[in-house]
Amino acid sequence: MIRFIVSACLVGFNCKYSGGNNYMPELEEAFKKGLLLPLCPEQLGGLATPRPPAKIEKGEGLDVIKGNARVLTVKGKQKDVTKNFIKGAEETLFAAEKLKDNLVACILKEKSPSCGVKYIYKFEEDTLKRGRGVTAALLEEKGFKIISSDDVEKIEKLLKEFL
Ligand code: SF4
Repeated sequence: MIRFIVSACLVGFNCKYSGGNNYMPELEEAFKKGLLLPLCPEQLGGLATPRPPAKIEKGEGLDVIKGNARVLTVKGKQKDVTKNFIKGAEETLFAAEKLKDNLVACILKEKSPSCGVKYIYKFEEDTLKRGRGVTAALLEEKGFKIISSDDVEKIEKLLKEFL
């Protein structure tokens, strides 16, 4: 039974903007046992892989959802991908709503403009600021528990209950 939604790159899908992944061996057993639903909001939002990296221009994920901030690509010709990021967040929320009776939490890749739970990158420079990605913000605002991929101990403890 599915108990967790996870950022797809964390279980080895090559859905990162660069075409790579952020594989976490700690999730492998739970994935094999069918406890995890891997989703990539940026792909669900219609973006290609590989794709140019993007950042939230100001504020954080909730500001994007409220229409007060944009998501823009930061390499090559600047493109507004706000709609894709919002669509991806809404599609992920759609899955979470379907699974909510059994869903424990969403384990999301830290620092991503979609999935970041505690930190995202500043628009102007490659340093971090407090804030959530667009999908993380929407899920949390709708009452779903979000857990950072950096909280490895917490994740292992939670998963253990179901393995
Ligand atoms: S961090 Fe989120 S949006 Fe980025 S590749 Fe992983 S699953 Fe996709």
